[in-house]
Amino acid sequence: MTRTLSILGATGSIGASTLDLIRRNRGQWRVVALTANGNAAELARLAREFGAEVAVVADEAALPALREALAGSETEAAGGAQALVEAAARPADVTLAAIVGCAGLAPTMAAIKQGGTIALANKEALVSAGEVMTAAVTKHGATLLPVDSEHNAIFQCLAGNDSAEVRCITLTASGGPFREWPMEQIAAATPAQAVKHPNWDMGAKISVDSATMMNKGLELIEAFHLFPVGLERLRILVHPQSVVHSMVEYRDGSTLAQLGPSDMRVPIASVLAWPQRMDTPCAPLDLAAIGTLRFEAPDELRFPATRLAREAAQSGGSAPAVLNAANEIAVAAFLAGRIGFTHIAAQVERSLANPLPPPPAALEEVLMVDREARARAEELLEKL
Ligand code: NDP
Repeated sequence: MTRTLSILGATGSIGASTLDLIRRNRGQWRVVALTANGNAAELARLAREFGAEVAVVADEAALPALREALAGSETEAAGGAQALVEAAARPADVTLAAIVGCAGLAPTMAAIKQGGTIALANKEALVSAGEVMTAAVTKHGATLLPVDSEHNAIFQCLAGNDSAEVRCITLTASGGPFREWPMEQIAAATPAQAVKHPNWDMGAKISVDSATMMNKGLELIEAFHLFPVGLERLRILVHPQSVVHSMVEYRDGSTLAQLGPSDMRVPIASVLAWPQRMDTPCAPLDLAAIGTLRFEAPDELRFPATRLAREAAQSGGSAPAVLNAANEIAVAAFLAGRIGFTHIAAQVERSLANPLPPPPAALEEVLMVDREARARAEELLEKL
């Protein structure tokens, strides 16, 4: 049976991994919407290849280039924030939410309102909107499936079990490229060094988040919303090899773990085929070759981001959205060479020290908190 699919953020790393799987299973999928920010040429190439109904660039300035590149094809071209939301609102059995940052929130919410399956990679949207997003999922009868490898692992380890029986959930973390670096060396880390992840090939923003460990902090908040066992039952454990993607320990002392290659096509395949399974081209794990699995406790002195995220989750309300917005601004400033690596977490901490806005109760309020927190984070950067 053919199923319909939309990919928000089709030109990114997750988009490419997803389309690789679709390419190998062409007869089973019909593509509705593909979106990008400004990369019109790549978006048009993908839209033609997959015969998408509509292709949307969020950046309206890229629309003329998209129209030109799609001339003569069956695909409609559109541009701008509203067009992105409208494309996400077109009925699709599965919507892969893979835009980077809170920019993905409004289109993801539009997809949720259709009541289909949302395959969520865009963790920043859930971190910022938290209860607003999970309430919308319940209200509209949508199904939220986690693509993030750790959450996908947890989802698989929880299958068939009652979450009331869970003693704790452990998110594993590679520790990033600076795991073994001393403080002084970390302070001097460059963007080129930060985006060079030891195990995963990902977009620039999440790679920097992995280097600061903010990625694990965002994932802690993501897990808090996806698996409501309470913050005190969520742990982080550094596992440099990224073979064990996360674990669930039950009250009888059994721990279930999900293992797999460091290739996002594995968790993406698991949500595309859910509740069944599908083939992937990934090389199977060779545990005899790996030999030993290593684990260590996280170091929150060198990598304070996980502490900041835990505190934001504990505070609740608007704190996670402020944390996320401040981090997005700081990471962009770091990548642009405006601030040093350790300033990223320091800037986030300063943003959270400001009086926080009231808890957002609806999408518009989350977007307002996000906008204001970005403006405030920019002001703090200017002062720095
Ligand atoms: P990339 O940077 O590779 O791709 C981001 C995608 O979002 C691109 O299609 C980009 O379009 C689009 N985009 C960027 N900014 C905007 C905007 N303002 N409005 C609309 N679209 C925009 O990111 P990744 O694929 O690495 O990550 C995507 C999401 O998935 C992130 O939330 C990340 O945390 C999460 N994730 C990623 C993993 C990975 O392995 N990469 C693993 C787990 C989670 P354009 O190409 O035109 O710029």
